Amino acid sequence: MKSIQIHKHKINSIERKHPWIFSGAIKSDVTELLDGDVVSVFDNKNNFLARGHFQHATISVRVLTFDDVELNQEFFNNKIANAVELRKKLNLIRKDSNICRLVHGEGDSLPGLIIDFYNGVAVIQCHSIGMYNSVELIGESLKNALKKELKAVYSKSSDTLPQRAEGKDGYLFGECETPHNALEHGVKLQIDWINGQKTGFFIDQRENRFLLGKYSKGKKVLNTFCYSGGFSLLALQEGASLVHSLDSSKKAIALTDANVELNQFEQKHKSIVADAMDYMKNLEEDYDIIVLDPPAFAKHRDKRHKAIQGYKRLNAHAIRQIKPGGILFTFSCSQVVDKFLFTNTVIAAAIEAGRNVRILEQLHQPADHPINVFHPEGEYLKGLVLQVD
Ligand code: SAH
Repeated sequence: MKSIQIHKHKINSIERKHPWIFSGAIKSDVTELLDGDVVSVFDNKNNFLARGHFQHATISVRVLTFDDVELNQEFFNNKIANAVELRKKLNLIRKDSNICRLVHGEGDSLPGLIIDFYNGVAVIQCHSIGMYNSVELIGESLKNALKKELKAVYSKSSDTLPQRAEGKDGYLFGECETPHNALEHGVKLQIDWINGQKTGFFIDQRENRFLLGKYSKGKKVLNTFCYSGGFSLLALQEGASLVHSLDSSKKAIALTDANVELNQFEQKHKSIVADAMDYMKNLEEDYDIIVLDPPAFAKHRDKRHKAIQGYKRLNAHAIRQIKPGGILFTFSCSQVVDKFLFTNTVIAAAIEAGRNVRILEQLHQPADHPINVFHPEGEYLKGLVLQVD
């Protein structure tokens, strides 16, 4: 087995079980190592520290275990069975709702691996070459853990791996026509993992969409950055009087329209293809509820300042124009903007808009997107429900 040694002053983070080893921490010459190699990690006295996947990148090793065990079929069987068991405990695969995240990378001690589940179909997305090299083992583990509940496994890593990895997409087990019907809190959804963004759907907003439903009866709702219309559908199911769904992508709006039709909600729904920032400057209607769920405005720390200005502008437009007593669901999924910074940015927007705003609820990612306490970077989704007086 290939191995690397860590600089003496860099082992603290590994001892605290942080799953990432940065290139600067490595003492050994790594030029001979290949992307995706399984490496054992040692301190400068040759004591075993960890084992993981190597890649020529800033994050050089993603640690899969701090125990001296092999990363074989049994290893993946245990990890994936454990992850599946948690989702079962949370009752996330049931009659009226069958969409959830089965494996959430570091949050399930499997850095570099995402697995989403859509009514019998598991979609695997690898973010590291080492994980991609293990994809057959992962597919087998899914079969072992889910048995009859699993109809197909699709591997979709070509957009998440570096180009040099030449990741190929396709079914590892079974096959399933797309779009595939699945359910979220009783709402019907068509999921297309082949042509859709990410694995086909933004599962992380499931509970927040449910919460929106509770506020929606008889209300006029604007859902911006709607993608396939998840928030709109919950609002309509729970009796919203009118829902407008907005996205800049025509493809996203086509997905929303198809989902609205599937649920027979067309009469109370309108789609809008537009840039949300432009559209929000001058709203044509007064809405009781506005949802702002933009993509990550900042993916890196150096873009954070600009991102904050974007969040502030967007929220100020919504707060200024929403009906008195209106409810704003506002989110950020930028990992580099933490919940305190996000809240402060929204407060700044309220000051700019000159209206009284109360925080009713503080939202976050759901339990099937767990945060490993040794990897606080795993916390990324935050949101606020505000009442604008
Ligand atoms: N709320 C969605 C997920 C949002 S993903 C859900 O519940 O599923 C972010 C969406 O924002 C994508 O669909 C993307 O097409 C859209 N988007 C990105 N930039 C935009 C912009 N400037 N204006 C409007 N939509 C935008």
